[in-house]
Amino acid sequence: MLECPGQLSPDWQRAFFRLRPLLWAELRESPHLFLGTAGEIVYRGSSSGSQGRPLIYFAGQQWDTVRNYSRDRAFLDWGIGEDTPILNVASRLFPLRPKDGVILGTVDEGFLEEFLGLIEGGFRVLRGYPSRLCEVAGYLQGKRLPRLQAVICTGEVLFAWQMALLEATFQCPVINKYGCPEAGVAGLSCSAGRLHLQTERCFFEEVEGEVLVTDLYNTVMPIIRYQWGDVLQLYDTPCLCGREGVTGNYSGGE
Ligand SMILES: [Zn+2]
Repeated sequence: MLECPGQLSPDWQRAFFRLRPLLWAELRESPHLFLGTAGEIVYRGSSSGSQGRPLIYFAGQQWDTVRNYSRDRAFLDWGIGEDTPILNVASRLFPLRPKDGVILGTVDEGFLEEFLGLIEGGFRVLRGYPSRLCEVAGYLQGKRLPRLQAVICTGEVLFAWQMALLEATFQCPVINKYGCPEAGVAGLSCSAGRLHLQTERCFFEEVEGEVLVTDLYNTVMPIIRYQWGDVLQLYDTPCLCGREGVTGNYSGGE
């Protein structure tokens, strides 16, 4: 039986768990079917996915505000505050915050000179795709570099050899960022190597070995019990780093 708008079903908790999981392919095929309040759209995103065709999603102001808050809070776990500028290196990534910078172009002598100037000038955190960061690192191996605070890898699977190369070259922790933006799923790895998920944004379930997620803030395009197909495993034991919250491991589908 349908309820009137504004009324909560007295049986909503059990009813929620009876909802069929939503598959990534279903959402990608017909994103318009999931639009709730189109008038409040302030954000349009696309998620590349592994099968070529992007998935388009929409969200509102509250979703965007919470997303930025959660991101900044996760950065603070690594001591990256709003006064710590992040340099986006040789990628199509947009700067996240006003103080952040970008360096683009082919990795050649001119690029490396500009790059060294930027890190000597105050950029202590790098962010980029692992493949591009490793390309830059390949030219800098064995060079004395200014002390960096962290390297943040995003957008691609981070392989162990890439992490080792980046750690050896830049002499700092390498943070792996995981995200499934249309589901509101995001998290950074910790010093113990686990992924700390931003549970303030999402409700996570594990059903028959699959992780389902419900975005708690996207009322524009409600995505409920979403099974997005990545091989994300949740841990049921506390993390050795001492921080609380839901942690997982992302193997990148290998
Ligand atoms: Zn941890």
